[in-house]
Amino acid sequence: MSALLEFSGVESGYGPLQILWGIDMQVAAGETVLLLGANSAGKTTLLRTLIGLLKCRGGSITFDGERIDALAPDQRIRRGIAFMSELGVFPTLTIDENIALGGYFLPEAQVRRRKAELFEIFPALAAKRRAHAGSLSGGQRKMLGIAKVLVAQPRLLLMDEPSSGLAPVFVKQVIDVLRTSIGDGTALLIAEQNVAFLELADRGYLIDHGRVRVSGTRAELEASDAVRETYFGL
Ligand code: ATP
Repeated sequence: MSALLEFSGVESGYGPLQILWGIDMQVAAGETVLLLGANSAGKTTLLRTLIGLLKCRGGSITFDGERIDALAPDQRIRRGIAFMSELGVFPTLTIDENIALGGYFLPEAQVRRRKAELFEIFPALAAKRRAHAGSLSGGQRKMLGIAKVLVAQPRLLLMDEPSSGLAPVFVKQVIDVLRTSIGDGTALLIAEQNVAFLELADRGYLIDHGRVRVSGTRAELEASDAVRETYFGL
């Protein structure tokens, strides 16, 4: 398997505080990889380091055969990486404006075409396209967050806790939308506390105190005592 994304010994943190202690990780093209871990395990820190919002202090990050760990975030985005933060959208912008932002680096005609396709997938958003994102329900905001990152047809989509703040019924909707709307060409790296997302994953990693504790296929993670311990206290 040749990796689209490769982390090798990645270290990162905030000021004097080191959080990631040598992370090795791979994501292949088109693969869905789940990043599991308890509160404060370092999942968000890992995604921020990957998109370039935090400095990679040690080790290397390679995307499509190229070292990207010294590049600015916009240069990483131009290479086909998209990041959906936990907040996901700008509440004071309209739905149209949020989606347009997701396609900021693309030709206008392409964004228009892609937007029309996305409004077919998300009809509830199409009906409210001139409304502020802040007026949407939590579930609809997540859908907008997903539409916003999908507009650019990224090669690698990073998602930070897409389930956060959502009732179980909306979590299921998010999982269904991800299953049906992500094209085969897009790899997904999802940081989650909710093990329901395992059903989407080809493989995954359990992060613990900034280190990889377990890595394996979905079946291996489901059978892992460490995952059970972290999530169910068993
Ligand atoms: P959660 O699910 O709670 O978001 P996480 O696995 O995403 O957890 P991180 O947000 O990466 O965890 O946090 C890892 C550690 O880094 C925590 O101890 C946290 O307190 C610390 N941390 C996060 N952001 C900052 C910051 N801006 N400054 C200092 N420490 C931070």
